[in-house]
Amino acid sequence: MGRGWAYQENTEVKCRICAGAMEERVTDLPFKIGDTSIVIVRSLPVLQCRQCGETELENVAMARVDRLLAAADRSAELEVVRYAA
Ligand SMILES: [Zn+2]
Repeated sequence: MGRGWAYQENTEVKCRICAGAMEERVTDLPFKIGDTSIVIVRSLPVLQCRQCGETELENVAMARVDRLLAAADRSAELEVVRYAA
């Protein structure tokens, strides 16, 4: 029998693309909502891969972005919101 999936106790996150180390950064990211609207979320904390630049959102940030996008004005082509209230 192999060891199967080892449970990872540490919180270090590996890049899902290249398995490189992810580091915490604060950046601005655009999100598309609907067909024509783009919301730019400013000062958003993300994890970014040091090797390939892939960005990933932690669950808590993703949940907050979901709420920000849900509250965004879909009639506007472009809206800029701040991550921090
Ligand atoms: Zn990577």
